[in-house]
Amino acid sequence: MDDKDWFQVGRRSCCFVDGKLVSAPIQYNLGELPPAVLAKCIQSYNNRPANGQSASASFRDYIINGFGETLADLFLIPQNEKTMAISLDQLSDRAVRRFFPAPDETLVRAGMQPGRNAALGYNANFWYPRTGGIGHLVEGLRNGITSCVVSQDVAGVDLAARTLVTTTGDTYRWSAIFSSMPLKTLCRITNDADLKKAAEALSHSSTISFNIGLRGALRPEFRNLHWIYIPDRDIPFYRIGFYSHISRGTCAPGFSALYAEVGVSPDEADRVDLVSQLQPKILDCLERLGWISPSDVVCVVTHIIRCAYVHHTHSRDSVVSSVLERLHRSHVYPIGRYGLWDYTSMEDSMESARATVLEVVGCN
Ligand SMILES: Cc1cc2nc3c(=O)[nH]c(=O)nc-3n(C[C@H](O)[C@H](O)[C@H](O)COP(=O)(O)OP(=O)(O)OC[C@H]3O[C@@H](n4cnc5c(N)ncnc54)[C@H](O)[C@@H]3O)c2cc1C
Repeated sequence: MDDKDWFQVGRRSCCFVDGKLVSAPIQYNLGELPPAVLAKCIQSYNNRPANGQSASASFRDYIINGFGETLADLFLIPQNEKTMAISLDQLSDRAVRRFFPAPDETLVRAGMQPGRNAALGYNANFWYPRTGGIGHLVEGLRNGITSCVVSQDVAGVDLAARTLVTTTGDTYRWSAIFSSMPLKTLCRITNDADLKKAAEALSHSSTISFNIGLRGALRPEFRNLHWIYIPDRDIPFYRIGFYSHISRGTCAPGFSALYAEVGVSPDEADRVDLVSQLQPKILDCLERLGWISPSDVVCVVTHIIRCAYVHHTHSRDSVVSSVLERLHRSHVYPIGRYGLWDYTSMEDSMESARATVLEVVGCN
């Protein structure tokens, strides 16, 4: 990889609320709401429950205590429930960590003033390849590695014998494994009864991503936005985003591209009828909203991310720490967002891998 192949993008994202686009994060930009909705949000913020967070508080409690019921019901609860495909009652207040702009009194109050410049929240800037998509990062990381086998699924792990077998029937013996596969899957495919049982306590959502290629430009009302959060429960997707606004290098000249993401449980992801039901529903909805014309669609590429958002349930922390302790004893070191069963970004995942390898190699 070369620095000159990348450029820095200033994030532009919005929330679609009450038929209007409000700058994200909405909790710091309430002044952009229609006056009547703003007034209700302010009143409910002033009356938010005064009781402090208890150790057993749910993510739902955290939101209502931090921002008041009106904003919680208008955006914060439906948006997060659609994304993570779970009731927020079942999640702990650590559910989204640094990816959730906190109930900061100064920022929330400042955002209530109409007409001020939007506050940005986390990830205000990000890097992107000048041409093509983020897959360049993976190609770059692979550069120079000569012994690399891909498209093989690890299907079984014998912790005592320190051997693993792949779906093609190959067996490998290890001195140390750094595993990025979802922790739940890893536990399931070991021959350890306790780990298999622990796997049952780990839950997650799936995301179905519809990547849509369009003839011509995107709608002018999207005014160069990168993505929009959609809390409305009558709209099947929780977010849409615009590849061609992130980088013109993602599309051929004269074309544009967007994506729509749908959050479902893993069971639903396994039985969903993509071609004759969900895809037409997504395209119809985008047309109903006036966001695309079906005659402009030139392709749809659908991708199912089976393990998308891990659920920070109340038991997650203790289950994960006992699972990791057991795996480390057999020199299996999970890494990354799914290996460590957390809600983290690409750079966090790479950093966790680097730190783990250095620690283990340093110990040996
Ligand atoms: C909808 C969505 C949007 C996101 N947006 C962003 C964003 O804008 N910015 C950002 O920084 N992050 C984003 N993330 C998070 C980001 O995708 C992850 O943090 C990152 O992909 C984690 O990298 P990883 O290498 O640890 O895991 P992965 O990218 O999941 O890679 C794990 C690898 O393990 C392989 N694997 C799994 N099971 C097996 C098996 N049994 N045998 C062999 N191999 C296996 C998989 O094939 C895969 O190649 C997003 C995530 C989601 C779900």
